[in-house]
Amino acid sequence: MNGDFTSYAYLVSAICFVLAIRGLASPETARTGNLIGIVGMAIAGAATLLLPQISTWLFVFAGIVIGGAIGAFIALKVKITDLPQMVAIFNSFVGLAAVLISGATLHDPSLYGMSSGAAMGLQALIEIALSALIGAVTFTGSIVAFAKLQGLMTGSPLVFPGQRAVNGLLGLTAVFATLAFAGWGSEGAFWGMTALFLVWGAMVVLPIGGADMPVVISVLNSLSGWASCGIGFTLDNPLLIVTGALVGASGGILSYIMCKGMNRDLISVLLGGFGGETAHAGPGAAAPAGTVKSGNADDAAFMLRNAGSVIIVPGYGMAVAQAQHALREMVDLLKREGVRVRYAIHPVAGRMPGHMNVLLAEANVPYEDVVEMDDINRDFATNDVAFVIGANDTTNPSAKNDPSSPIYGMPVLDVERSGMVMFVKRSMATGYAGVDNPLFYNDNTMMLFGDAKTMCEDIVKAF
Ligand code: NDP
Repeated sequence: MNGDFTSYAYLVSAICFVLAIRGLASPETARTGNLIGIVGMAIAGAATLLLPQISTWLFVFAGIVIGGAIGAFIALKVKITDLPQMVAIFNSFVGLAAVLISGATLHDPSLYGMSSGAAMGLQALIEIALSALIGAVTFTGSIVAFAKLQGLMTGSPLVFPGQRAVNGLLGLTAVFATLAFAGWGSEGAFWGMTALFLVWGAMVVLPIGGADMPVVISVLNSLSGWASCGIGFTLDNPLLIVTGALVGASGGILSYIMCKGMNRDLISVLLGGFGGETAHAGPGAAAPAGTVKSGNADDAAFMLRNAGSVIIVPGYGMAVAQAQHALREMVDLLKREGVRVRYAIHPVAGRMPGHMNVLLAEANVPYEDVVEMDDINRDFATNDVAFVIGANDTTNPSAKNDPSSPIYGMPVLDVERSGMVMFVKRSMATGYAGVDNPLFYNDNTMMLFGDAKTMCEDIVKAF
């Protein structure tokens, strides 16, 4: 097939991928973005299959059918709250692919259009080493992150004395192994170096606690992009370089947004030690620190109907309870009564950025009712009722006024400035960060204990 045709097809695919990412930036355009991405991938796949060096389509189609079936099955089965671990396991495959392709390139360079038999140049060896490094760290790091999020191992930071020194030493040894490989270029040196990278990837993620894990997933996602980019250089494939760079850069930006939303810096996240409390936080875990006023669905229905303005603050618990449809029904009734209702979205509400937006879009909540934290925070002062449903840390004022709190500095929603705050949750338990929320004991707070979905349904019945 003509090289010009392939170049043009790759260019069209790359444009499609850029447009796809642009579309995915908002729930309103996400479906179209996804479709454009699928078209781009179809063009890329077809153009690659037509390359002269592809001697048989059999293995490619077998891979597409088997991989596609597994992917479709997982995508249909996975719960939205489990998406971080799904991304983790998929990232690990990209990392493994980078390691295997690097190894295969070294084993038989002619397969990849490189000068067969002749000694590979230093530049090619460095490219292979970098792909193996990023791929191997992504592979084992993602497996450990998956195991932590899936509850297959403890979510607490796994720390031991001198860990940072050991990790530093491992990193240094890996650098020397890379230099040795670049000098010798032998397969033995390659696999020795790769084994070190694999151990290093796992060791770096082990001390990171559950609360920081979504950031780690995003960093690993970014690394998987750079690993693909590296493979692109090895295989001299411009489309892989472009798509890898797109994934790498967008993953990097996502990590930055999450760190900013939680007021953590990336280095301290990656050095680990925070977030282990989550492993112990569960219903009833927080010690009571005052008097708590609780109410039932009838009380809530009465106050909500009599409010002029209500701001809904959704969080992780809404996702767990799948309460978005019942919530929407409750809001529809309130709107019919003339109450002004809006939704306030914290950048890290739930377990990944956009988590709440996706759930609300799924329940057909109008986009104009969904307002980002920075745009709605000042409105709480003139708001009658803040209806906090399955959210906790993202409303915790300790982040503003308690320097000793682990979440100090994290931007939060100022719900307590409303006339009244209702918290829908099952118990007095803490949120993901494992920190008690003093708002539960405020005079203007009413706790509505129960499952988020059941509570919304009961409020609808009470209306
Ligand atoms: P939180 O984890 O702070 O609180 C969720 C609350 O939901 C819990 O207190 C729990 O209380 C309640 N809950 C759980 N299940 C149910 C249910 N079935 N019905 C009703 N309530 C339920 O959630 P937020 O969304 O407020 O905060 C997100 C947290 O995740 C933050 O700490 C953030 O830093 C962290 N995080 C978020 C990331 C992101 O990108 N979104 C990334 C990394 C971390 P109870 O058990 O009493 O019901």
